[in-house]
Amino acid sequence: MNINIQKMFLIIAFFIFVISAVFIRLTQDLHTNLTLLESIEKNKLAMITKADELRHTSDDLTKYARLYTQTKNKKYKENYFKIIAIKNGEAKRPLRYEHIYWDLFEPTRSELHPLQEKYALKNAMTHLPYSKYEQKKLDLAEKNSNLLVGLEVQAFNALEGLFLDANGSYTVRGEPNQRLALDLLYSLDYLKAKEKIMIPIDFFLMFLDERNKQNVAGINEVVHYVFYKIFILMIFSTFSTGVIFFMLYKKLLRPLKLLTDEIKSFKQGSVVQDIQCYEDEMGILIKEFHLMHQKQDNNYKNMQSLALTDTLTQMNNKHSLLLLLDKEIRYAHRYTNPLSILMYDIDFFKKVNDTYGHDVGDKVLATLSTLAKDSLRGMDSIGRYGGEEFLILLPNTSLDNAKIFAQRFKDKVAHYTFETIDSLTISIGLVELQENETKDEVFKRVDTLLYVSKHNGRNCISS
Ligand code: GH3
Ligand code: MG
Ligand code: MG
Repeated sequence: MNINIQKMFLIIAFFIFVISAVFIRLTQDLHTNLTLLESIEKNKLAMITKADELRHTSDDLTKYARLYTQTKNKKYKENYFKIIAIKNGEAKRPLRYEHIYWDLFEPTRSELHPLQEKYALKNAMTHLPYSKYEQKKLDLAEKNSNLLVGLEVQAFNALEGLFLDANGSYTVRGEPNQRLALDLLYSLDYLKAKEKIMIPIDFFLMFLDERNKQNVAGINEVVHYVFYKIFILMIFSTFSTGVIFFMLYKKLLRPLKLLTDEIKSFKQGSVVQDIQCYEDEMGILIKEFHLMHQKQDNNYKNMQSLALTDTLTQMNNKHSLLLLLDKEIRYAHRYTNPLSILMYDIDFFKKVNDTYGHDVGDKVLATLSTLAKDSLRGMDSIGRYGGEEFLILLPNTSLDNAKIFAQRFKDKVAHYTFETIDSLTISIGLVELQENETKDEVFKRVDTLLYVSKHNGRNCISS
């Protein structure tokens, strides 16, 4: 997974874009199908309501025709013709007429169902999305309802003494015949004519129901499929979010922590540890910083070594030597361990310089230093205190043991054959640290003893 951070962000942005686009598309699909479902339900209700109106209009007409024929009450005849006028759009239509109207008495009827605009039931029905077959059935019911009206009008006329002639017109006058009128309205023909209205409505409702069931099932299937796709998309999104977080952690959070730790260790001047990171922008930044830290660390170590080491003899310089002396004195006092201090100075060194030159003098100094270092134990320390004056610290060493060492060292130098000069000697001052003695005090003592050796003819040890 060695991609750089810029590419990673491009991939993440692309993923989010694709997922969002698919999600938007699916929600659009869902919305479209739910809206379709809603409109199917709405239209179905409207179509059933209109068919029902056709049915109950026929029933209302029968009711008022029979009531009028039985009671001869003109109010019923008025209602009868008002129902026809409303149906045909010749009279104003009451509000929510399709629900309940004629079963209510005045004034409840007017109160709950104020009059609205005029429109014919047939016209209202043409706006609805019927199938051809359904439309045909409703048209048939509508046509057949007019046949029934013909029978009812025949009954009304019989009640008033008007009868049909051979041409089918009401020109024959006679005695009003209520019996005939009632027979017409309760006849088998009347009931059959009624059935001719109801059968198409029944078929219409059956077909409408079937068609809607199929449509709704089809849309439901699509909606379920869209939900299924959304579900899959959600799972994919959750998984992708996990992967994105993992990548962000690997590529940004972890490297940031690494960089923070690196900066902290830089600030504290800690030792530089090796680090592992990707070859991307953050990785390069961390590695560059790490290199800078390493370089700075090396520079510091070099400077530190330069500050504490004598360049000619590669041993502790005076500053470093005094720090070591301090430390050893504190240690010896705390643990009451013996500490011996040896100071030596080359005898007649000026003569070496004068005779062989300064460079030879330097070389002799370096060779003698190596000789001295090789004579020491691991715990001992040595340093160049002055021009050709040196100090050796011998921890855990009593004065007697130090004397043995000093003697051996003095003899080793005296017997050593240098490259240019034959030989040289050293004078030694030797002390053991006393209880509660300070650095200055012990230093003064050993320095004095070195001069005693010089005074005593050199190439000797004073303690
Ligand atoms: P003494 O026996 O009394 O010690 O005699 P000396 O000649 O050694 O006298 P002293 O110790 O007083 O002089 C030290 C000389 O060491 C002086 C100087 O020329 C020489 N010297 C000091 N430092 C260096 C150095 O780094 N290189 C060289 N070549 N000579 C040095
Ligand atoms: Mg000297
Ligand atoms: Mg000297």
